[in-house]
Amino acid sequence: MTASTTLDTPRAIPDQKKVGMVSLGCPKALVDSERILTRLRADGYAMSPDYEGADVVLVNTCGFLDSAKEESLSAIGEAIAENGRVIVTGCMGEEADVIRARFPQVLAVTGAHQYEAVVEAVHEAAPPSQGPFVDLIPQPDIKLTPRHYSYLKISEGCNHSCAFCIIPQLRGKLASRRIDAVLREAEKLVAAGTKELLVISQDTSAYGVDIRHEERMWKDHPVRAHLTDLARELGQLRTPQGEVPWVRLHYVYPYPYVDQLIPLMAEGLLTPYLDIPFQHASPSVLRAMKRPANEAKVLERLKNWRAICPDITIRSSFVVGFPGETEDDFRYLLDWLEEAQLDRVGGFRFEPVAGATANELPNPVPEELKEERYARLMEVTERISAAKLEAKIGRTLPVIIDDVGEPDEDGDIGATGRSQADAPEIDGQVFLRNVPATLAAGDIVQVTVEDADAHDLFGVIA
Ligand code: SF4
Repeated sequence: MTASTTLDTPRAIPDQKKVGMVSLGCPKALVDSERILTRLRADGYAMSPDYEGADVVLVNTCGFLDSAKEESLSAIGEAIAENGRVIVTGCMGEEADVIRARFPQVLAVTGAHQYEAVVEAVHEAAPPSQGPFVDLIPQPDIKLTPRHYSYLKISEGCNHSCAFCIIPQLRGKLASRRIDAVLREAEKLVAAGTKELLVISQDTSAYGVDIRHEERMWKDHPVRAHLTDLARELGQLRTPQGEVPWVRLHYVYPYPYVDQLIPLMAEGLLTPYLDIPFQHASPSVLRAMKRPANEAKVLERLKNWRAICPDITIRSSFVVGFPGETEDDFRYLLDWLEEAQLDRVGGFRFEPVAGATANELPNPVPEELKEERYARLMEVTERISAAKLEAKIGRTLPVIIDDVGEPDEDGDIGATGRSQADAPEIDGQVFLRNVPATLAAGDIVQVTVEDADAHDLFGVIA
């Protein structure tokens, strides 16, 4: 089982019901799992780290791509084989008929972020044993990420209709959280030891559009539900040690106001990192993809951003082999990448997803051609990444520690961390040698870079 191994329950209650959790999919789904488990613990449930000890197993599924759906179905199958009492939730919950056809014995199927419905299903499957102490003592929220970094989800759903994506069908229209609630959560996380906040949503730049950027009071002044206000306030947070926590923005579309965030990065109040899912560069492919904020001046803006904040890291992802993509479109993308010099790039081959409008588009790209373009894309982006990382050799950079190893036969201890250019799970790492035994996960240390490859850095504490 994944995720639930980090959970424990501080108070043993006789006959306390135990819930197992298998959490699949993206960080947004992980946040959903955390919310569900926090709710269940408040209701008196304990968490089981294995199938055997669980009275019921929750499978939080991902339904983004057909391959993710297959993975979700096999996780459901495993949970049924190992435990038998299974509730399915998450993105694939929208396809209850597919799940029930394959696994008629599942106890309940609920959709993404239907917290109430999942909790109710658990209550029905394994009624909680209410001990006299349950609910009286407030407990911290359950986190499935290490204590030193946390995902901060600011909205659900999406108002766009990108041709390759079914997220709006799965998760609905944009629904932004109140800004004071988001800031309160962030403040609580930082007070509890979070050193790095990862701001996530489906479309971070659109935050607050659905609630007309409503104003709320926060610390005696009004703040709007808008990314610029949010970023400014997050930049005011301090850890209990008085440090500025790292604040990383993901899934930002380059709407014009994004320019206003760059000075905050230059001032050190926001981590100089922007994750912008460009997906392509050729205007005709972007049009066919129906991408938001698809505008011609992006290269110029990248240059301006770098002039204001030279250390800014731009991460992006690109899809090759979208229906109708010609050799000229693909070359346009490669030329654009040579000019844009993005720091981090993820590449994907187009994969049709049941229900996406892109599936009906003419001129699908043959699989061998997709593979060939993918290899060419990776060749270009790895070369750019290697050169960018090589340029960091000799520099001293802040690094957040994720993991400290055991001493080897010579007594040397190694550690793994990330620079401000590396988001957890998706970017590179910094490998450290000869660290002091007192170093711990979550420490932020200054590291002199000694070597680099195409993705990672190697160094020593300065
Ligand atoms: S912006 Fe496009 S790709 Fe992203 S969730 Fe919305 S529809 Fe999907």
